[in-house]
Amino acid sequence: MPISEHFADMVASRVGEARALISSARDRGGHGQQVTLVAVTKTLGMEAIRAAYDAGVHDLGENKVQEAEGKMEAVDFPVRWHLIGHLQRNKAKSAVGFSLIHSMDSERLALALNDVATKAGKIFEVLLQVNASGETSKGGVAPGEVSRLADRLMSLEGLKVMGAMTIAPFDAAEPVLRQVFSETRRAGELLMNAGLPARLLSMGMSGDFEIAVEEGATHVRLGTVLFGRRL
Ligand SMILES: *Cc1c(COP(=O)(O)O)cnc(C)c1O
Repeated sequence: MPISEHFADMVASRVGEARALISSARDRGGHGQQVTLVAVTKTLGMEAIRAAYDAGVHDLGENKVQEAEGKMEAVDFPVRWHLIGHLQRNKAKSAVGFSLIHSMDSERLALALNDVATKAGKIFEVLLQVNASGETSKGGVAPGEVSRLADRLMSLEGLKVMGAMTIAPFDAAEPVLRQVFSETRRAGELLMNAGLPARLLSMGMSGDFEIAVEEGATHVRLGTVLFGRRL
C-alpha cells in the first residue's frame, strides 16, 4: 500500500476513534452540547489536510496566519479555517480568512479586530481566550477580568463574541483540568449574561479533550491524536 494511502487510512480510523470518545464523554458530562472536531494541521502539509477532509473533518485549526494563508490558497475544497494561535495586533487584517478566531486574547486585540472588521464592513466571529490556569506563559484574559470586558465587547459592532476558549496546562492532574475547564465555562456564562451570543467553548486538546467535553466543550482542537506527533 502506498505510504499516502496508509496515512489517510490511519487518519480516518483515528478520526473515528476520536469521535467515539467525544460522543461518550458528551453523554457522561450531561451538558447536551454539540461538539465540533477541529483538526489542527499546523506544521503539516496538504496530505494531512486532505486526509482530514476525506475523513469528514471540515474544520481545520492553524496557529500562524502566514502559514494558514498559504494553505488557504492551496486548498480548493470547502473547509472552515480556525485561528487558534496568538494574533499580533498589526496582523489583525489577516483575520479575514478565518471562520472563527479562537484566540482573541486581549482587549487591545479586540479593538484592533473590531477596527479591521468595521472598515471592511464585516463582522468577525471570535472567542475570548481565557487564561483559566493563571500560568504566566499562557495568553488570555484573567477570569476576573471577563465581566468588565464583556460590557466593552458588547459595544464593538464588528465582533460577534461566540464564546470562550482556553488552553489547559499540559499534563495537569484531572482535578486541575476540570477546574480550568469549568472556570472557562463560567467565563462563557458571564459573557452570555452581558448579552453576548457566547454559547461556544473551545477547550480540549489531544491530552485532555475527553475531560473538556465532559465539562461542556463545543470545540475540541486535535492534532497529535489524529496525525501523530509533530516533528
Ligand atoms: C497545537 C495546538 C493544539 C493541538 O495540540 P495537540 O496536543 O497536538 O492536539 C490545540 N490548540 C492549540 C491552541 C494549539 O496550539
